[in-house]
Amino acid sequence: MPSGKMRVAVIGGGVAGLVVARHVVARPELYDVCLFEQTDKIGGTWVYTDETELDRNGLPVHSSMYKNLRTNLPKEIMQIPDFPFAEKKGPSFVHHSVIRQYLEDYAQHFELYPHIKLNHLIEHVEPEKLANGQVIWQVSYLDLATRIRERRTFDAVFLCNGHYTVGNVPEIEGVESFPGAKIHSHQYRQPEQYAGKSVCILGASWSGIDICLEVHKHARRVYISHNLAQELDVKIASNVDERPGIERCEGSTFYFRDGSSAQVDVLIYCTGYHFTYPFLSDKVRLSTEDNHVEPIYKHLVHMDWPSLFFMGLPAIVIPFPMFHVQAQFLLAVLEGRARLPPRELMYQEYEAEKQSLLKEGVALRHINKMCKRQWAYYDEIAKAAGCPAFKPVVRKIYEHCNKMRDMDFTTYKNYMYRIVDDENFEVAPCKGLC
Ligand code: FAD
Repeated sequence: MPSGKMRVAVIGGGVAGLVVARHVVARPELYDVCLFEQTDKIGGTWVYTDETELDRNGLPVHSSMYKNLRTNLPKEIMQIPDFPFAEKKGPSFVHHSVIRQYLEDYAQHFELYPHIKLNHLIEHVEPEKLANGQVIWQVSYLDLATRIRERRTFDAVFLCNGHYTVGNVPEIEGVESFPGAKIHSHQYRQPEQYAGKSVCILGASWSGIDICLEVHKHARRVYISHNLAQELDVKIASNVDERPGIERCEGSTFYFRDGSSAQVDVLIYCTGYHFTYPFLSDKVRLSTEDNHVEPIYKHLVHMDWPSLFFMGLPAIVIPFPMFHVQAQFLLAVLEGRARLPPRELMYQEYEAEKQSLLKEGVALRHINKMCKRQWAYYDEIAKAAGCPAFKPVVRKIYEHCNKMRDMDFTTYKNYMYRIVDDENFEVAPCKGLC
């Protein structure tokens, strides 16, 4: 650590940034922290807006939240361990506004606002090596209210800028001749606007299924088209047809890979997102090719710049409590309580894990999907940080909920969970509450 207080920049005021700030703010004797948020609110993707293009600052809308979204994880396991939801009863899969309020309460409770600069867009982050070998970070930002540009120096930078904003849009032969509306799920807001329309949803992962479940109630017909190895287990509704991927389109006619075709009015791409760090200097040498971010150790630390930290890389995890453990691990690294291996060893370890996953047939772009690997990961970084790992009941609820979703993704949110103790939980149907 530098001789004085360590200067920490946090980029982004979503959950990840708030959790990092909460732990840094708790050690005022060690750190000075500034959290930069480009919008006028904290909460990141949980801040719903009807806008789909530009926000009030004239920047591309960040949030991909849609009007009716209910969480896909029960609140009992989404909650951050040191800040449980005040409301213990009621539905487990809550409306997004409940999460937004929870994050507001979190920021108030841990007195984060004095350290947050809203309406501040980070434009450039550049490392500088001093003669003594120490690395510092020059962080340039624009105050969107005054339009004044400034630059400040930091010792460590946490990148918490989110990764559900820049949509991945695969090429489709002939799509330029399609006269209907084309949107990405990032721009999807509410189902009523598809009343009477024939809608093709491309992609059957979380957002594809979720959007299909609400759009079909208004649309005339919905085609859910995907390249999954297997057909969906559940027939969603009589006006929903499952189709393989789109081969090409000619005007309003879509041709699918099984030779079938359909007349379509609206195409909704539910085809994922890209990791982007547009403000990062080229000096950092970061690759995001095939949506795989490297070279990052333990999904957190840039191996060439070990004071540059990446939050939010792992997918298929329990994000909020994961951020809680990750933040504590990174502070332990900064304070020397946890030691990173030498650079060469970090590279070796990272490459070995990557190669073994590739050999197992995991595509490069899916390496960040932790699934079953998440539990060992939480245990490992919690141990290194000297903080508690996840309680066994969290994993049990997660696995129960996954099983229920696998059985029927149309009904799994109709259940309520209750934590009994660190090991046990109860689950019951919602009976009209959900
Ligand atoms: P974000 O919430 O995206 O926050 C990033 C912040 O960085 C934003 O406020 C943004 O304005 C700011 N920012 C970006 N660039 C800059 C810049 N240059 N300068 C300053 N500020 C910047 N997770 C769950 O646990 N349960 C769910 O049910 C769930 N549902 C989801 C539904 C949808 C539709 C989506 C998109 C995601 C969902 N997730 C869910 C995942 C969710 O993204 C994570 O839980 C979590 O909110 C990610 O937080 P984050 O802080 O990493 O990113």
